[in-house]
Amino acid sequence: MSLLGLGEFHAFGAAGQRFLYLVPSAAVFALDDPAAALIDALDTHNLSRDDLLAAVAPRFPDAALDETLTELEQVRAVGPVAAPPAPMPTIIPMTPLTPFPLTTMVLNVTNQCNLSCAYCYEYSEDKIVDTTNGAQPKFMSDETARQSVDLLFRESGDNAVVHVSFFGGETLMNFPVLSRVVPYAREQAAARGKRVEFNLTTNATLLTSEMIGFLVDHDISVTVSIDGPREMQNRFRVFHDGRGTYDVLLPRVRELLRRHRSRPIGARVTLTSQVNDILGIYHHLTDEIGFQEVGFAPVTTSPGRDYALGESGFDQMVAEFKVLADEFLETAVAGRHHGFSNVTETLEEIHKGVSKAYPCGAGLGLMGVSTGGDVALCHRFAGSDEHKLGSVTDGIDRNAQVAFLERHHLANKTDCHTCWARPLCSGGCYHEAHTRYGTTTHPNLHYCDWIREWTDICLRIYGELAERNPGFLTRFDS
Ligand code: SF4
Ligand code: SF4
Repeated sequence: MSLLGLGEFHAFGAAGQRFLYLVPSAAVFALDDPAAALIDALDTHNLSRDDLLAAVAPRFPDAALDETLTELEQVRAVGPVAAPPAPMPTIIPMTPLTPFPLTTMVLNVTNQCNLSCAYCYEYSEDKIVDTTNGAQPKFMSDETARQSVDLLFRESGDNAVVHVSFFGGETLMNFPVLSRVVPYAREQAAARGKRVEFNLTTNATLLTSEMIGFLVDHDISVTVSIDGPREMQNRFRVFHDGRGTYDVLLPRVRELLRRHRSRPIGARVTLTSQVNDILGIYHHLTDEIGFQEVGFAPVTTSPGRDYALGESGFDQMVAEFKVLADEFLETAVAGRHHGFSNVTETLEEIHKGVSKAYPCGAGLGLMGVSTGGDVALCHRFAGSDEHKLGSVTDGIDRNAQVAFLERHHLANKTDCHTCWARPLCSGGCYHEAHTRYGTTTHPNLHYCDWIREWTDICLRIYGELAERNPGFLTRFDS
């Protein structure tokens, strides 16, 4: 006699309602009373279909119960149980067909920086690319920038919109090239009937009124790397002579925020063992400076560094994320904007049912170009021979790309196969893994607890919004 048991899901509650996050489909499923009763009946032991219905039947009409069980089977919340030992969930190693169309090209327009942040992945002891020995030029040339754009369009397939991101080093140290490649990319887009969007990440200390005018005129999204109020910003984000940067960037950022109104200007905060007052940082950046979006990321570093977030640091981070996420929820329920972008990004993925075979688009729809024109996984690997996927002159090395995709598929990360958070995490950032474990193939097992806790927090917010203000979630439909 075949028995029914529970499928693979993460159960959570929100707004008095019970939900399942269904791992194989990455869908959120609301349980009504009969469905909840059926799930509960299978919680302690597996049952035949008839015994399961009989166990729950006294409380619900037969027809409704049978229909509900069929629905639970269809979404795989309930399913037949194999004879023990139960098999591991199977993840089929289906690598995407290549050529996979490019969506985003990240141009490392320079590997030079006017700051000297101790934790910088480009200059710290954890750096991957040696930018000091002249293997890569210090600045990208006009020609390489144009070739990067040409490659993006050539490999963009049917994508109607492509994205060019400017990164560094400090991006604005190569503003001349940046300012010339933007109109070039627009011309190329128009000639192909496509649209191109731009964004730029900067430390803002070199921002001038003229540059702000350019960013406004060309509708370029801007993310400012900033760590919060003066004391926190100046802890690590310093000039080469050790001077803090807060007072230099503040008037520039204020002018940027005043004049650039067409797109939300974001702040990106790097959390360390010494810069971790998330609530204080968030409210300073939004309420006192005026950023519309603030995203936080723990510093990428090997564990021994004194600025690394230790276990208690991660615990504190999640606790403060939760307080800020609750604030997000109440603001969203009231139909207003809240700028905690970590929540927005995760809610969007949940809403869209994102289920990742790879943690991010690196090496797939997104690639980074080094100052010398090498194409790599993403901006953090640009210039690394080991992670090279071609060049702007020779194009994408399809063999290298396929080999990368085969090696990095979730199917090869056996540690992740029983993890309910894998549709959204899929092992985490390659750069983080390389820094921690010396290889991009390793899942980031040092942060599983906080990834799962954070995903649970976001699922609860999603559930609350689905019950209390479902209209808020429609912004993620497109
Ligand atoms: S790295 Fe950890 S949290 Fe992420 S999918 Fe793997 S096991 Fe889950
Ligand atoms: S590998 Fe890491 S840094 Fe690079 S795009 Fe992916 S998540 Fe971002």
